[in-house]
Formats: sequence, structure tokens, C-alpha cells
Amino acid sequence: MTGSGSQKKKFVIFGVAGGIGSGKSTVARMLGELGCVVIDSDAQAKAALARPDVKATLVRWWGTGVLDAHGNVDHKALAELVFSNERERRRLEGLIHPLIAASRDEQIERARREGRAGAVIDAPLLFETGLDAQCDAVIFVDCPLHVRLERVRASRGWDEHELKRREKAQIPLEEKRRRADYEVVNTGDLDRLGRQIIQIFTSITEASDPSDAPTR
Ligand code: ADP
Repeated sequence: MTGSGSQKKKFVIFGVAGGIGSGKSTVARMLGELGCVVIDSDAQAKAALARPDVKATLVRWWGTGVLDAHGNVDHKALAELVFSNERERRRLEGLIHPLIAASRDEQIERARREGRAGAVIDAPLLFETGLDAQCDAVIFVDCPLHVRLERVRASRGWDEHELKRREKAQIPLEEKRRRADYEVVNTGDLDRLGRQIIQIFTSITEASDPSDAPTR
């Protein structure tokens, strides 16, 4: 097929999946450099937790122990509470996920209106929350545990216990890999990762008709 430069490129919604520390945010940033708006669910969750109405609800549920000395939500105390108790985790998710979804939809619509290349959703619970259905292409970032561990130790100060505790709240990695449309390997340097991302990005966005795109 010969592509014509004048054909309108389609707006692509990417999803990024993979283990903690695999490089999902790094991939999202690279897609950002290629013109996509980056939708960072962690940042959105933090913004939701800063809302006065959300804070008030958390205090009503769990007491003032969830706040720090300045009256802001203590993210560490909250993580402690919800990652050791599934029922409470689900309760928190029920409160903040709708807020995150609304802000995500708004960002996507704005990016579409502005003529951006696409959007990339960097959400740890992409499949668990059914967000993959909104994506044209989900990219799985492959990286072995020992490398991921080294990375999160250096970047977040987490040990193996912390990483595994958080991953237990997610579906198994093999299932994420199976359900993704593309896979990239992030064990080497960032240039190598970048080349894989450019290749995927180009193959999808160059398809003039959405039905030509090698996506799901
Ligand atoms: P995730 O979003 O999957 O948890 P990140 O993208 O935040 O992972 O990556 C975890 C850490 O590892 C970050 O500090 C990031 O800069 C670093 N990192 C990611 N990929 C590479 C790589 N190929 N080489 C070196 N460092 C990397």
C-alpha cells in the first residue's frame, strides 16, 4: 500500500501495560514526544486525593490518621491501609476512579480537538478497570523482575516485598501480556526502547483508514 502524506492520520489512543518498574511511564513519555498527550493516572489519583470532598470522605471512613500534619492526605498511610486490605482498597477505588475517568475523558477530548497525534493512558489498572476497551493499541512492556526491582529500588526506594505487595492487587503479568496488542522489551538502553516505540507508533498512525491499522 502506498501512503499519501495528505491523508488525515487517525487519532490513536494507546494503553501501556506491564509490571511495576518495567518502563510504562518511560514508554508513555516517548509517545508524548511523538505528539500524544500523556494521561498519567497516578498524577490524576493524587489530584483526586487533594480534593476537599474526597479528603472529607476518607476522614469519615478511616479517621484523621489518613492525613498528615498539614491536613493533606498521607499517601504512605493510605497505601499501608489499602494494600493490606482488599475491601478497603476497593472502597477507595470506587471513590476516586470515577473522578479519574472524568478527567481522562476530558483530556482525550481536548487532545482530539487540538489535532494531537493521539493519547497515551499510563494506568497500572488498565485491564482491571476495563480501560483497555477504550484503547486502539495496548503496548506491553516486558522486563524481568530483577531489573524492575533494581529500578524501583533506585527510583522509589522500594524493596521486593513492596513491589510484590502492590503487584498482588493487579492481574497477573502473563495475562496482561496476552491481552496486549504489542510487546516491547525494555532490558536494554533507552534508545533501543525508543526505536521499538517509534516503529509501533508509525505503523499505526500511518494507516489512513482505521481498518488498515494493525491493531485489535
Ligand atoms: P513504570 O512506569 O513501569 O513503573 P518507569 O517508566 O517509571 O516504570 O521506570 C522505572 C525507573 O526505571 C525509572 O526511574 C526510569 O527512568 C528507569 N528506566 C526505565 N527504563 C529504563 C532503561 N531502559 N534503562 C534505564 N533506566 C530505565
